[in-house]
Amino acid sequence: MSAQTETHGFQTEVSQLLKLVTHSLYSNKEIFLRELVSNAADAADKLRYKALENADLYEGDGQLRVRLVVDKDAGTLSVIDNGIGMTRDEVIEHLGTIAKSGTADFFSQLSGDAAKDSQLIGQFGVGFYSAFIVADRVTVRSRAAGHGPDAGVEWISAGEGDFTVTNIDKPQRGTEIILHLRDEDNEFLDEWRLKQIITKYSDHISIPVEMWEEGTPEREEDGETIAATEGQWNAINKATALWTLAKSEISDDEYKAFYKHVAHDWDDPLIWAHNKVEGKQEYTSLLYIPSSAPFDLWNRDNQHGLKLYVQRVFIMDEAKQFLPQYLRFVKGLVDSNDLPLNVSREILQDSKVTQSLRTALTKRALGMLSKLAKDEEAYQTFWNQFGTVLKEGPAEDMGNKEAIAKLLRFASTHTDEAAATVSLEQYVERMKAGQDKIYYIVADSFNAAKNSPHLELLRKKGIEVLLLSERIDEWLMSHLTEFDGKPLVSVTRGDLGLDDLSDEEKAEQEKQEEASKPLLERFESSLGEKVKAVKVSHRLTDTPACIVADEHDMSSQMIKLMQAAGQPVPEVKPVFELNLEHPLVMKLADEQDDARFDSWAQLLLSQATLAERGSLEDPSEFVSQLNALWLELSR
Ligand code: ADP
Repeated sequence: MSAQTETHGFQTEVSQLLKLVTHSLYSNKEIFLRELVSNAADAADKLRYKALENADLYEGDGQLRVRLVVDKDAGTLSVIDNGIGMTRDEVIEHLGTIAKSGTADFFSQLSGDAAKDSQLIGQFGVGFYSAFIVADRVTVRSRAAGHGPDAGVEWISAGEGDFTVTNIDKPQRGTEIILHLRDEDNEFLDEWRLKQIITKYSDHISIPVEMWEEGTPEREEDGETIAATEGQWNAINKATALWTLAKSEISDDEYKAFYKHVAHDWDDPLIWAHNKVEGKQEYTSLLYIPSSAPFDLWNRDNQHGLKLYVQRVFIMDEAKQFLPQYLRFVKGLVDSNDLPLNVSREILQDSKVTQSLRTALTKRALGMLSKLAKDEEAYQTFWNQFGTVLKEGPAEDMGNKEAIAKLLRFASTHTDEAAATVSLEQYVERMKAGQDKIYYIVADSFNAAKNSPHLELLRKKGIEVLLLSERIDEWLMSHLTEFDGKPLVSVTRGDLGLDDLSDEEKAEQEKQEEASKPLLERFESSLGEKVKAVKVSHRLTDTPACIVADEHDMSSQMIKLMQAAGQPVPEVKPVFELNLEHPLVMKLADEQDDARFDSWAQLLLSQATLAERGSLEDPSEFVSQLNALWLELSR
């Protein structure tokens, strides 16, 4: 076979990544070894899985391992595995492009500031390309399991614009990564240093990491003859899959190191939950909550899910079936004794075992979050990163609605800060005597919510209102109708049900309503078809009028969302509420001129609509109404 050397350019994103790797990741260089050893362990896992069906793939060598070889004269460190290996096409694809979608967007966010970018890049995960943190040239020699010894391929790159690939003979299956270390990175030629890094990050991956130990010749010591020893490969890590150990045998640092291996994350996790379950269902799970969101959390086809093992054998990555979407940020693994080894994604989909695992793991994940919630600061970190995702929960998972509701956090009139820190439990605890509802408002922004006229009376009475302003909030609240037996009520619709009025106050109110009937009717005839009804408002103090949604009508916020999504919106007429104590309204009650009353009524409705919806169907009508009145007043 001819060598067929070809030169390929890196995909643009890879070139950008490589630049960053060499310029931003100098503060924690040693992690390159963790990344390469992780890849080797993954390659071993993949081979074991494939060999379940075809044991010939082992080619008579089923002892999977990775070896580190140092050549001090040449200045190279090699990481050599006997895992699944790669074909020529795979090498070109995997080591020349980045398959994750949304990568281009991600790179457009980078600032050029090394410190900031290294943070971001940590969330992205550089994997193989981290080799260039310490090497100015990398040679990869690989041969895929099940292919002949002449099907090897050699990839060489200096980590700049391009790489070459050449066909080679490679009798041993697997992948060899040869790092030509930069002079200043010679510390990674020191065996003691390498051992230290492996113990730190890779002690509990599932295969041994081996180094060669030289033999010793026969010698005399204290008159005794000590026999010669042969050189041999020694494992320098424990190589027991971490999750199979008892919790009491595992330190926090080991849990953290293992997280970085499974999640390909650079930061420590916020919390983890490790459980072994025996009996009707037998499984071990190890779940983690990351401390920062991956760059593609909001990408439709973002890769997420747990690693699946069956009886310790790795089966697949990113098995989405074990957790609902709203927990897609949870990382980790599940090792089941009840699934067949030859399970496929399709079988998983409809398996009863999967269903019961999903139920159990969902409970575990929620339990882990409520444990995290006891540490306010850590929980705030979680909430800032993943709160919006968790808000999908009540709609997706009716069964756990109450548990999810407890994990939600809101901004509120009690704190008047944009940060969402208030829980429903806190709200309920400090409800006013006689208050039996939980009040909230959904608006376009925190300030619009905070300053909404709908809150005026509630503020005056000291009743707390939750302030919501994320896109998903209207959707969330349409599924979250009750908490702790108390209804959640939007302050922008229907009757607020503030029934804590004394009899006297009630009688006064009724009298007032009776007396204002003619005025309300006058408004009704002026506004006609534009409104559903005109009522006396019991929620305003400083604003003359507002519009509210009738009890069962769609809210303004929902209408806006549907319009933005280009969906047909049913015609919903608002209820127009008047603040009878406002001087403008009082003045209008005395207005004798019908035409002028009409103009004022229209103007008040337009104002109220603008305040509520942020836009008007016919803005120019509003402008001419306003100008006409102005002219008249200035005459
Ligand atoms: P990731 O591991 O996150 O997918 P990497 O950049 O580390 O990203 O690696 C890209 C791909 O290259 C891997 O998904 C894998 O298919 C392949 N690869 C890397 N290292 C090895 C290896 N030692 N053996 C086999 N394949 C490998």
